[in-house]
Amino acid sequence: MSHSARLKVDPENRVVMHSHPTHILAMNYVHELDEKKFTYSLWEMCTECIVVFPDGIGVLPWMLCGTEEIGRATAKKMEEFRLVVWGMHGIYGAGKSLDEAFGLIETAEKAAQIFMLTAHLPRLNTIKPSEMVELADFFGVNYRKDFLEDHLNEEF
Ligand SMILES: [Zn+2]
Repeated sequence: MSHSARLKVDPENRVVMHSHPTHILAMNYVHELDEKKFTYSLWEMCTECIVVFPDGIGVLPWMLCGTEEIGRATAKKMEEFRLVVWGMHGIYGAGKSLDEAFGLIETAEKAAQIFMLTAHLPRLNTIKPSEMVELADFFGVNYRKDFLEDHLNEEF
């Protein structure tokens, strides 16, 4: 179901991969399961994040796996996102090739690792929303503007 949803958005998306990345899962326990907030927190963690997944990360709450219900919910998210988190379970990534799908998940996982390594420490620096816009403009990616607008308003 997820694969056919992705193919409608991008006929090149030949791969849909599912895994249980440790730090994404750890983050599920300490971060709100809100896709706008979850995406923003990851974008803040590595400079490449907004460039690698400008479309953000879809987030589903914990649901019973192996059911048609979770299949439909995931496919619905895949119409909008190439990455979808299953709360307290794992992640889905879609791409043109195994390398691309794996790389996408790995980028999110690395950002989640940095989040978890720093979550309990005072934050002295961050990547500002205006810097994320600079990155997106320079690399020519179409990012989720609605995921950034609240932060941009706070910054100025
Ligand atoms: Zn699983």
